[in-house]
Amino acid sequence: MPDRIYLSPPHMGPDERSLLLDAFDSNWIAPLGPHVEAFEKELAARVAVPHAAALSSGTAALHLALQLVGVGRGDDVVVSSLTFAASANPVTYLGARPVFIDSETKTWNLDPDLLEEELEARRREGRPMPKAVVVVDLYGQCANYTRLEPLCAKYGVPLIEDAAEALGATWNGKPAGGFGAFGVFSFNGNKIITTSGGGMLVGPDKGLIDKARFLATQARDPAPHYQHSHVGYNYRLSNLLAAVGRGQLRVLDERIAARRRNRAFYEQAFANVPGIRFMPVAAEGTWNGWLTVIVVDSKAFGATREQIRIALEQQNIESRPVWKPMHLQPVFAQCPMRGGAVSAAIFEDGLCLPSGSSLTTAELERVASLVLSLRSR
Ligand SMILES: *Cc1c(COP(=O)(O)O)cnc(C)c1O
Repeated sequence: MPDRIYLSPPHMGPDERSLLLDAFDSNWIAPLGPHVEAFEKELAARVAVPHAAALSSGTAALHLALQLVGVGRGDDVVVSSLTFAASANPVTYLGARPVFIDSETKTWNLDPDLLEEELEARRREGRPMPKAVVVVDLYGQCANYTRLEPLCAKYGVPLIEDAAEALGATWNGKPAGGFGAFGVFSFNGNKIITTSGGGMLVGPDKGLIDKARFLATQARDPAPHYQHSHVGYNYRLSNLLAAVGRGQLRVLDERIAARRRNRAFYEQAFANVPGIRFMPVAAEGTWNGWLTVIVVDSKAFGATREQIRIALEQQNIESRPVWKPMHLQPVFAQCPMRGGAVSAAIFEDGLCLPSGSSLTTAELERVASLVLSLRSR
């Protein structure tokens, strides 16, 4: 069996190793330390957002963001349906209910027209507004903030940007993570840069980011003894992992370039192949290349998305269906949904191809030729 080709494996360099060893040798193991603060500053500068709190995961960052905009028991929170479950799960941690909205075809992200319908219907019927809108930047592409930001502002609903997959992307020149009240990043194992596990909460309000750090360290009051007036969490990032993150941030632009080259390779390989199209990339934005996603029209191509996935797996190549929309998940079956056909169709026919920044041309050729061998003609 040939060596396994992974969907999106970690890609480390020499800086990550030496920074990690620096953290280790300085004995800043327990858990906060100078690399955490430096990672926060460097990431905030990279995404042009004033403040950042390094956390143990993107999920933790979303949980704190929701709490800090005031989400609580019995509230509704609008969430993109086409996403990873971690976008919606933290809503339920707070006793609130996700209200899902379908994708637009232009970016595959939250459809601004449907969001407007949802907010307008609530206003007209005198129902409470959602306490927040969680907008996901899917597969490394920003949502349509030209529409979404003014819409949330008009109805007075805080926007939380789930940019876990989109570090380094932009919309109208502005970096992902900078839209709305909070931006959230993830450094989990298969994201564009990784600390093995980790996350970052960013935002324009220093007071709120300070409060996130406070809640993330067990909400300890400033007193020599251990005193607590709030319930807190153990959500901070370790100094060891922050050191790795600093090294990864230095090579982010190289990682973006390599991942974009993957898609360019696949596009060329499948250029004249009927039945394969790629995730659209809107002209207003730049895509960070995280995952290359194709949509397979099985009649035109001659094989289904699932037949391609299984054929790849049989040759030890990892690919993955597009996220199964949240409105089709058993755990969220009771939650309201507006629209649904767009994300359901993308899920049905969408496949994420191997997209790592360390893929070689020979590996890309292995993937592409296997896909092409499944064609009907
Ligand atoms: C990965 C991911 C998260 C969660 O981040 P973790 O660091 O794994 O907790 C949230 N939202 C989206 C869209 C993601 O892809």
